[in-house]
Amino acid sequence: MDRKILLIILDGVPYRNFRRLFGNLEGWVDSGDARVWKLRSVLPSISASCYASIHTGVTPAEHGCTGNGNVFRLGHKDVFSQVREAGGVTGAVTHSFWSQFFNRHPFDYVRDIEYDEPDSSTINHGRFHTMTGYGHDNQMTPSDVDLYATLTNLCLRFGLDYGILHTCTLDSMGHRFFHDAREMDHACFVADEMLAPFITRWRQMGYEVIVTADHGQDDRGHHGGRCALQQETALYYFGEAEGPADDFVIDQLQLAPTLLRRMGAPVAETMKAAPFLQ
Ligand SMILES: [Zn+2]
Repeated sequence: MDRKILLIILDGVPYRNFRRLFGNLEGWVDSGDARVWKLRSVLPSISASCYASIHTGVTPAEHGCTGNGNVFRLGHKDVFSQVREAGGVTGAVTHSFWSQFFNRHPFDYVRDIEYDEPDSSTINHGRFHTMTGYGHDNQMTPSDVDLYATLTNLCLRFGLDYGILHTCTLDSMGHRFFHDAREMDHACFVADEMLAPFITRWRQMGYEVIVTADHGQDDRGHHGGRCALQQETALYYFGEAEGPADDFVIDQLQLAPTLLRRMGAPVAETMKAAPFLQ
C-alpha cells in the first residue's frame, strides 16, 4: 500500500453545523493542516443507502439498498475488498450495517459483534454496534470516545492500512432535538473536542484522515430526500494530496475511488466517479 487512511463518518451532520460548530476542525483549516469542501450525498439521503454508496462508489439505484429496512450483503466490490486485493489490512468500528453490507448478512449478535479474520476478503478486524432498540427517547449509542479508542487500538495492534469509524450520536441528537437547538450546539461542540486529540494522534501514526458525514439533516431533523440541508455535508481532509478549488462540491460517489487511489489499491471497474484528490 502507498498510504494508510482512516475514514471517520459522523452520521447526519449538515454542512452548516460542521462549519459553524466544529472549532478544532475549522481551526485546522485556518492553519493549513486540513482542507474542507462541501460534499453532496446520493439519493435517497438515508443512512444505509449512503453507507453502501460511500463504500461501493455506485448509486442506490445501482447497488439496490433503498433504505435502512433493506440491508443485505451487497454484490458490488467496495473499499474493503479492493484494499484486501492490494494486500492491505482493513478494520471497521461502525454500525453493524457495515458488516452486513460488506462481509456477511444477517448479523449474528454473538458471532459478529467483533471479529478478527486475517484471511477475510473484506473486513479483517471488525468491532460493531447494532443500536437495537434505538428511538426518539433512547439513543442506544456508544460514547464516541470509546469508538475512537477502539479504532486506535486496532491500528496499533493490527497495523490497519484502512480503517473506518462511524458514529450515530449526532444523527440521533438531530432527530431528537433538531438542528437549531442548544442541545445540538453542545453535542457538536463535544463531538469536536472528543475527536480532535485522536486526529492529532492518527496523523502522528502516519495516517491520512478524512472526516465527513453520510448525509445532512433539515430543520426538522429529517433526511432521505432532496435539498441542501438533507444532502449536503462537509468533508475535511488531513493529508498531503492536492485537492480541487475551495468551492468544488464533492459527489459522494467520488469517495471510494479517491480512497483507493490514495492508498494505491485497484479501483473497481464499477467505480466510475473521478477521484477528487491527486
Ligand atoms: Zn445516517
